[in-house]
Amino acid sequence: MKLTYQIDKFAVIFKRKQFYKRTKRNEEVELPKFFAWDCTRRCNLHCEHCGASKENYNEELSTNEIKKVIDDISKIKRCFFGATGGEPFMRGDILEVLSYAKSKGLGTGIASNGFLIDEKKADDIKNAKIDSIQISLDGLEETHNKIRNNLKSFARIKNAIKNLQKIKIPVLSVATTLTPHNFHELDKIYDLLIELEVKRWRISVVMPIGRAVDSESLLLSSEQFKNLFEFINLRNNQKMHIYVGENIPFLADQEEFVRDEPALCPVGITACCIGVNGSVRGCPEQPDTPEFTEGNIRQDSILNIWQKGFKKYRLNEIINSDEKCHNCKDKFKCYGGCSVMRIGGNNCIYELTKINQ
Ligand code: SF4
Ligand code: SF4
Repeated sequence: MKLTYQIDKFAVIFKRKQFYKRTKRNEEVELPKFFAWDCTRRCNLHCEHCGASKENYNEELSTNEIKKVIDDISKIKRCFFGATGGEPFMRGDILEVLSYAKSKGLGTGIASNGFLIDEKKADDIKNAKIDSIQISLDGLEETHNKIRNNLKSFARIKNAIKNLQKIKIPVLSVATTLTPHNFHELDKIYDLLIELEVKRWRISVVMPIGRAVDSESLLLSSEQFKNLFEFINLRNNQKMHIYVGENIPFLADQEEFVRDEPALCPVGITACCIGVNGSVRGCPEQPDTPEFTEGNIRQDSILNIWQKGFKKYRLNEIINSDEKCHNCKDKFKCYGGCSVMRIGGNNCIYELTKINQ
């Protein structure tokens, strides 16, 4: 048992308990450190597992509207502002907005499919002083292009990675969404990323939102989950840092072998998301429905919404209302898992891996 891991986990749980107490007493809570901006639903690709196709919007936030949000959050020290979508580069002002955020002292990042990052765009990214870029890659050429529904996507991504390395982007990571369609290529994707000199690899599983709702089951089998954990345990930090996306926050007895740092769902505790039309929810993956909406920056300031909203997360509603979670010995290590995975009934690590609780 790693002592440092246990100490970090204790600190994360302690923070949640503080939020619970303060919310119960109607006191203000600590301000968030991570803001995702779900900046557009437009995209140049059509991926089979896309979660962003879950809503359509006619009206995106204007450049000035999002800059006003940035003015508010720049009052928070050591805070990160990252754009996701859709494809963020479909917005012509994306680098202007992030450059503005950087000038206000925020850390900045973009999650992109990489297709549009040619040499010129990489230079623009350098000039905007973006701190981190995450590029999606879901398999070797044939598999990736099939998943992304585009015959050029794989080649464009390899170029994007090289272009970003050339400008020495401070943090470059590759994200892979695993499904039964690409799981067999796990080793080969690893080899490819080593060859491309990628240093950070984020692996996550598909979520039951957007296009993935209508597809045949895209979730890994329990055997594949176990193999994945074994794979990460063996390979992590040898040549590359490999981490599991936090949509499976609690990993039971596998946690400290698979993760370097503990994860709990950060919604309402350290993170929130500004949606395409200004609605505020917990994270980009949550559907933009009343159930997940905490306010709208067109009607209230982001910091007011933070203080007034997110009560159900802070008051542990999930583990109090779900009987199985309520009776679970690990409820204060897991807090009921990911609220998006819960939509498809896939939030519990014990059920996903079919290991005994
Ligand atoms: S029963 Fe609930 S609290 Fe327990 S591990 Fe599963 S999802 Fe987490
Ligand atoms: S709701 Fe799920 S996907 Fe969103 S931040 Fe929490 S764990 Fe991650």
